[in-house]
Amino acid sequence: MPTHTTYPPPTSRFARRPRWSARPSTSVRLTFDDGPHPEFTPEVLDLLAEFGVTATFFFVGRRVIQRPELVRRVHEAGHTLGNHTFTHPKPNWLHFPAAAREVQQCQRAVSDATGSPPRFFRPPMGRWTPPLWFAHSLAGLKPMGWTLDSGDWRVRSDADADACADELLAAFRPGDVILLHDYHPWIGRILRAVLPHIGE
Ligand SMILES: [Zn+2]
Repeated sequence: MPTHTTYPPPTSRFARRPRWSARPSTSVRLTFDDGPHPEFTPEVLDLLAEFGVTATFFFVGRRVIQRPELVRRVHEAGHTLGNHTFTHPKPNWLHFPAAAREVQQCQRAVSDATGSPPRFFRPPMGRWTPPLWFAHSLAGLKPMGWTLDSGDWRVRSDADADACADELLAAFRPGDVILLHDYHPWIGRILRAVLPHIGE
C-alpha cells in the first residue's frame, strides 16, 4: 500500500493522527501465502507493480530454497517478507523442537535469499498450536492473521475466479487484511479484476 503520513489532510486545523496510526483507513492489505511459485509469483509481482500496490508474502521455506531469486525480487520490489514455516505442515500438534525447526529454517531460507529476515509469521492454514506460537515468538516474529479470506484456494475455473473477485470486491472493507495465494493458477485473473478497485 502507498504510505500516507497526512491523514486527515494537512488542511485540518485540529484533528491529527499519531504516526503509528498513519495507515490510511481506506487501504487494505493484501497478503499472499504459500509461494514462491515459478510462474504465478512473477505474475503477481508484475500486477502489483502495475497498480502500485505493495503486499506481504508469507513464504514456504523449502520453496524459497528452490527459487531464491524470486524471493529476492519480492524483497527488492518493496514488499513485506513473511515466514509461513519450512514445509507447511498440517496443523497438528507439533512438538516444540519440530515447530522451532519449521520457523527457524524458513527464517534462514528467506534471510539467505534476501539478506533480510522476515518480521511476520503466519501458521499454515492460519491455525495456531501452542508450540508454533512459542516458536514464532522466540524467533522475534509478529503474528499476522487476516480479516477476509478470498477463498482463492477453492477456485477451479475462470468462472470461479471471476465470482471470487466479485465477492471480494463486494465484501472488502477499509482496513481489511486479505488472504490470497500466489500458488494458484487463477490468482492473476483475480488480481486483474480486483486491483483497479483496491487501494488508492
Ligand atoms: Zn498456507
